[in-house]
Amino acid sequence: MNSQPVLGNEAIAIGIVEQGCRVVTAYPGTPSSEILAGVIKHKKRLEREVYTEWSINEKVAFEIALAASWTGLRAAVAMKQVGLNVASDPLFSAAYTGVRGGFIIIPADDPGPHSSQTEQDSRLMALVAKIPVFDPSTPAEAREMVKDALTISERYKIPVILRPTTRLCHAVQSLFIDGAHSPDAGVPSVKFHRDPPRWTATPKFRNLLHFELNQKLIDIADEFSDSPLNYMFEASSGGTVGIIASGVAFHTAQQALHELGVQVPILKIGTPFPLPQKLVNAFCTQFETLIILEEPDACIELQIPDRNHVKGRLDGIVPGSGELTPEVVFSVLNEVLSEAGYQVNPSPEDLELAALIKALPLPVKPPRLCPGCSHRSAFYSMKRTFGPGAIYPGDIGCYTLGMNLRAVDTFVDMGASITMANGFFQANRLVKDERPIVATIGDSTFLHSGIAPLINAVHTGARFVLIILDNHTTAMTGFQPTSANDHLADGSEAPRKVSIPDLVRSCGVEYVNVSDPYDQENFTRILKEAQAHTRAPDGGIAVVIAERPCRLYDQSPILEHPIPVVITEECDGCRYCTEAFECPALILRPDGSRVDIDYNICVECGQCIDACYKGFIVPKLPESSRA
Ligand code: SF4
Ligand code: SF4
Repeated sequence: MNSQPVLGNEAIAIGIVEQGCRVVTAYPGTPSSEILAGVIKHKKRLEREVYTEWSINEKVAFEIALAASWTGLRAAVAMKQVGLNVASDPLFSAAYTGVRGGFIIIPADDPGPHSSQTEQDSRLMALVAKIPVFDPSTPAEAREMVKDALTISERYKIPVILRPTTRLCHAVQSLFIDGAHSPDAGVPSVKFHRDPPRWTATPKFRNLLHFELNQKLIDIADEFSDSPLNYMFEASSGGTVGIIASGVAFHTAQQALHELGVQVPILKIGTPFPLPQKLVNAFCTQFETLIILEEPDACIELQIPDRNHVKGRLDGIVPGSGELTPEVVFSVLNEVLSEAGYQVNPSPEDLELAALIKALPLPVKPPRLCPGCSHRSAFYSMKRTFGPGAIYPGDIGCYTLGMNLRAVDTFVDMGASITMANGFFQANRLVKDERPIVATIGDSTFLHSGIAPLINAVHTGARFVLIILDNHTTAMTGFQPTSANDHLADGSEAPRKVSIPDLVRSCGVEYVNVSDPYDQENFTRILKEAQAHTRAPDGGIAVVIAERPCRLYDQSPILEHPIPVVITEECDGCRYCTEAFECPALILRPDGSRVDIDYNICVECGQCIDACYKGFIVPKLPESSRA
């Protein structure tokens, strides 16, 4: 048996397949996106019959997996932490109804946050919904915890949450894979059984189910107090300070203590909700001071009844927001332990090095759209058509980077571009503000959460231009297919694909136009036409579908028609092109004298030709014609 380096998300996927989950659904979102891809890879390797799908959104994904559990199969659903907000309706309901087959929900949290609009803690969501949580510290533990979580789910007939964080999702650990699983017993012979008091519970039965749920949590907390997932580390080292840590912070604390040269008992919590109270209370009584290290918020800390001696996120000793990086944990432990009279080592060299690096005046390089990205062309045409005075509600996707081009003014959550545009229209009507409103949303985001807002906007008589940036894929999270694609999650052919233009028309929109943003002249003409429709007496919402495949997803259109460009000697370095068009391949010389093209990253899309209003960016002539 050989070990292999495995990504944290893939380790979770291996656990899901090994433990016999038969229906696994997800909506992509960093840091969770590799979980479903891993399930597809390993169901093929282990030859297991598992239904997998990239669902249209997290609520849909949740309910499909829940139905499988109610049938009696083991099931799992994965998403990023904000996806759990979208799935919160069935989440709360499922806690009451309970489950039959083991049901595991995997919302990946993003302390930092690295790529999310919030730093929310899914464990707190679980606390409110009353759903038990498993909080792994390593990829190997996450794989094992899938088994523990499914066991609790089936023993207590309750959905459970496995909550990884970004560092775990993207960590790599060597794992033994081949031969480490039991042979597949095949899909179990189960059937959905009617049970109206449970599956269609009315308020009277919901009250009983709530009582039942509370009792389950008491029993689970008892069981967790004896669980090997919660254990003491350095138990015999004594002292006046104890640490309670969970998730990745457990290992960060161990590392920091090693660097500080002290031994401090740590209670490692693998099940932060319901908190194993007996175990935690017994630990707490041994120390004068307790430090709680957890991410991204206070969950364990909130559940400790006597917080007089507790130092954590709530009192600001541990920063109230942000990731618990080694530097942060070192600094917290250094301060608290020094105050408590411990002899600690001075700051290690690597921390001093980190401080020196932090102090270096390195140039800031903000994230930007890729060279050749068709969204840039669409935004550039939008700005030239509607100008700086328009209001530009944006949405969640790589095209949020349109804010660099000053073509995205707001983003809130998935689908909010359309509702915000509607809201701005209704407010502007009252305050007599006639500025154009131009919203942008990606194809995947439109399908996820844009349809209901569009119907609502049509029905309420809103008027704005909506540009659906259709790049044929969910680009930001790794090219997962949408319902408008011709293939499914595992690469097989989709039985049907949805037409976005037809969908928009069926929402009641009368002006719908599909146009290639690379054809900037025609695209601009259509934008003007769309704007005119929003102002016409019998007009309304105008939808322009800017259709061109993401060039990383499908390079063929550019490869078939390359337009190499060159910047002439006359360029005076005015920076208009670098600021208004912002292609990363346009490089201003350090002395500011002119702009050059970085041919290492230029993809020869030719889209910047119009970005020099002086005409100094021109097509590069073939060698033979340059005599
Ligand atoms: S290429 Fe044109 S727009 Fe860009 S810096 Fe030179 S002169 Fe200005
Ligand atoms: S042709 Fe122009 S816009 Fe296209 S990648 Fe090259 S520099 Fe950027």
